[in-house]
Amino acid sequence: MQRTALVTGGSRGIGEAISKTLKSQGYNVAATYAGNDEKAAAFTEETGIKTYKWDVSDYDACVEGIAKVEEENGPIDILVNNAGITRDAPFHKMKLEQWKQVIDTNLSGMFNMTHPVWPGMRERGFGRIINISSLNGQKGQFGQVNYSSAKAGDIGFTRALAQEGAAKGITVNAVCPGYIATEMVMAVPEKVREAIIGQIPVGRLGEPEEIAACVSFLASEEAGFMTGATLSANGGQFFS
Ligand code: NDP
Repeated sequence: MQRTALVTGGSRGIGEAISKTLKSQGYNVAATYAGNDEKAAAFTEETGIKTYKWDVSDYDACVEGIAKVEEENGPIDILVNNAGITRDAPFHKMKLEQWKQVIDTNLSGMFNMTHPVWPGMRERGFGRIINISSLNGQKGQFGQVNYSSAKAGDIGFTRALAQEGAAKGITVNAVCPGYIATEMVMAVPEKVREAIIGQIPVGRLGEPEEIAACVSFLASEEAGFMTGATLSANGGQFFS
């Protein structure tokens, strides 16, 4: 039986690796993105994976978008909540807008995407929700009060919802990547990046495919006994 997976922010960065890995394992994959049409078109051209554009911070757009995805691809069995942004600033300089954008996308986006797929998963007695949190949600990070709050919230969301899904065959788990070589991290100044690498015991940034491997395990039938868990992949930088 071919399962259908939807990956938010699935056309580039970590999400791109997740989409490709799931497809290579035989899943029927669809991906969402926010605004980078050029990258999404190139991704579809390369992989054959359909992409859908909407903002995960907009609940109504999620309901509408998910209905379209399900109409074209069948019911969503696996939801990977990967879409995320950073708007870094030290707290004394952080604007309300920076706080709101990050909470609305990284935390409320998880509610907005999961809520519409949840009733169908309950009815069918199967589901996999995989939430991409962050190392910085586990340990906190200077300049990221907004991001660390949202990502810590993602873990709370995971643990609470796992309890509600357990009796219905739905698992809910989080993956906490450390620093991964994507545009998000490559955008920080080289000096800062070198300092970050100096704090990672394995001595390098992670690769998006290494996070995709965690997701692929959590999506599998074999992971049915694992729920409410937080899987850390951070090169040994932090143990929780
Ligand atoms: P990228 O910036 O490379 O890609 C982000 C993806 O999310 C893009 O596809 C983007 O769409 C999409 N996206 C952003 N905002 C929205 C929105 N409002 N609605 C819908 N889609 C949106 O990020 P990464 O691949 O680096 O990060 C992926 C996830 O992993 C994020 O949740 C991030 O917080 C988390 N993470 C990343 C780490 C890292 O080191 N890179 C470390 C720990 C966690 P578009 O292409 O249209 O812009």
